[in-house]
Amino acid sequence: MPHADTRAVHAGRTDLRGLGTHVPPIDLSTTNPLPGVETGGDSYEALATGGLVPDGGSAVYQRLWNPTTARFEQALAELEDCEQAVAFASGMAALAACLLAARAEGKGHVVAVRPLYGGTDHVLATGLLGTEVTWATAGEVAAAIRPDTGLVIVETPANPTLDLVDLSAVAAQCGDVPLLVDNTFATPVLQQPVHHGATLVLHSATKYLGGHGDVLAGAVATDAEWAARLRRVRAVTGGILHPLAAYLLHRGLQTLPLRVRHQAANAAKVAAWLAARPEVEQVYYPGLPECDPQGLVGRQMTGAGSVLAFSLRGGYEAAARTAAGCDLITHAVSLGGVDTLIQHPASLTHRPVAPEARPHPSLLRLSVGLEEPEDLFDDLAQAFSE
Ligand SMILES: *Cc1c(COP(=O)(O)O)cnc(C)c1O
Repeated sequence: MPHADTRAVHAGRTDLRGLGTHVPPIDLSTTNPLPGVETGGDSYEALATGGLVPDGGSAVYQRLWNPTTARFEQALAELEDCEQAVAFASGMAALAACLLAARAEGKGHVVAVRPLYGGTDHVLATGLLGTEVTWATAGEVAAAIRPDTGLVIVETPANPTLDLVDLSAVAAQCGDVPLLVDNTFATPVLQQPVHHGATLVLHSATKYLGGHGDVLAGAVATDAEWAARLRRVRAVTGGILHPLAAYLLHRGLQTLPLRVRHQAANAAKVAAWLAARPEVEQVYYPGLPECDPQGLVGRQMTGAGSVLAFSLRGGYEAAARTAAGCDLITHAVSLGGVDTLIQHPASLTHRPVAPEARPHPSLLRLSVGLEEPEDLFDDLAQAFSE
């Protein structure tokens, strides 16, 4: 198999030469001609139950399948080293499909390790989709598993404090229960969870995969059996990714390795700069030895990524002033784009989280982009002095 950087450029494009084109065509058809009543019906049956378009069949209807979206899925599956991937209209739609698919098998209990993305924490804590959660530390997973446990959910690096979870150690406790890893922060460039025992690899593709802040999307890379379950749920809940968004994501994947590595190099410089500032109480970044006591960077991840968090000695007041005082850096939620973003997790992304698990009010999260780090230092310094 070609190297990862080569795959990022070429994956999901093998049919293009045969089509006589160089970039993927965007197919916007919501409906598709049927070859005949019987073959059309067979295609519908296959797609509605989670299968793929049969040979000589029809894609039938965009909610079931779309060739532009399927090319992006193929590319992501290759980057994650999984059999297949299933793309959704958002990361939360992808997570919802995983929860509903597990519940549909009669396994509505979830074991989850905090911290998690605020929306994930919220949907689990409220049981909004009919699941029941047991919160566990990474070492308590085995003890929390029950006969009706359908998923173990972890995120690493985790949002917002960049805590790292040893995936192999968690997978070893899961037995037959599938391990779902939210790989949004690491991307397949830095971490391939299937190589550490994960069954389901979830992405908010809105973040690094898209990389430019202009696509909302989610995806799950997994084995063929789980992919069929997820497509079945997607067909009835209508959460499929739009082909225009899929086209942009597929294009974004071509520069993913470059962006991820360069942004990580910038983030390491910003982390070091912040650590030396008198206003800063603590920096949370997996590249700092004290933030990676298990030595997972190098073993599980090939780099530390480009999201970091830091707390300010001035507490909430200083954090709020700094976020609002940034100029070059945009005060906004989300992450993983080419430009640097800053936000206050306790007020925003992690607002729905229960008080005992909510981030500290003095904490800010920074998603470091492709700007020259010197310019980021200048902006942060002026924001500190506001
Ligand atoms: C943003 C995010 C999500 C949710 O994805 P959306 O695309 O916003 O629905 C899930 N997990 C993580 C780690 C995220 O950062």
